[in-house]
Amino acid sequence: CGIVGYVGEEQAAPILLEGLSKLEYRGYDSAGIAVRNETSGDISVVKAKGRLNILAEKTDNGRSVLGTCGIGHTRWATHGEPSENNAHPHCTDDKSVVLVHNGIIENYQELKDKLVKSGYTFYSQTDTEIAVKLVDYYYKKTGTPLEALTRSMLRIRGSYAFGVMFHDHPGRLFAARKDSPLIIGKGETGCLIASDVPAILDRTRDVYYIGNLEIAELTGEEVHFYNIDREEIRKDIVEIKWDA
Ligand code: GLU
Repeated sequence: CGIVGYVGEEQAAPILLEGLSKLEYRGYDSAGIAVRNETSGDISVVKAKGRLNILAEKTDNGRSVLGTCGIGHTRWATHGEPSENNAHPHCTDDKSVVLVHNGIIENYQELKDKLVKSGYTFYSQTDTEIAVKLVDYYYKKTGTPLEALTRSMLRIRGSYAFGVMFHDHPGRLFAARKDSPLIIGKGETGCLIASDVPAILDRTRDVYYIGNLEIAELTGEEVHFYNIDREEIRKDIVEIKWDA
């Protein structure tokens, strides 16, 4: 339902919680964040069923989850009951790929059967867990995040906005979408992902719109865009003139 991502100089968790709170009006049943600690290299995932303030309490308003790169999500369940286990972010067993998702993956059963045959275990009832394991499958096969994402996008039928972290690529976020909104913001201290403008309006008014079947790769300083053929595409910043 709601997606926020941040990579830059500041601590990510408080920014993610703040951004998610701006998307509360859309409704949700659970929430979660994943933040990468640069010193240890570990990615922490914290999730909670119910209101965002439960997640905020669990993380001391984000202060107990250290790191400057992360993704957050508020979930409106479509596949699988509202629960902490089904809440996003979802990840692989070794946290090689961590992902949040808005939308619906229509052919999830077919993809799940294939992934189970390839040795993947599933712990949630969500369609989203299929996406993160499919991306991992292609990542292990190709070794590049961009190819893992584009190959997965070609296999998935349905709608999605994804925010993705790869453990082997510190200080970097990836975003991709089809038929589900997602924007990129370029702020003073870092770059952001959001499913809707209000989530990032306090931090920046400079945004890029990602088109259908396009991918964004963000660091704290810059954003690159690619089409489904992995060719780099140029985009211009659009200034948001209105107030949320
Ligand atoms: N289909 C996904 C789920 O049920 C994402 C729902 C959403 O957009 O929040 O977990």
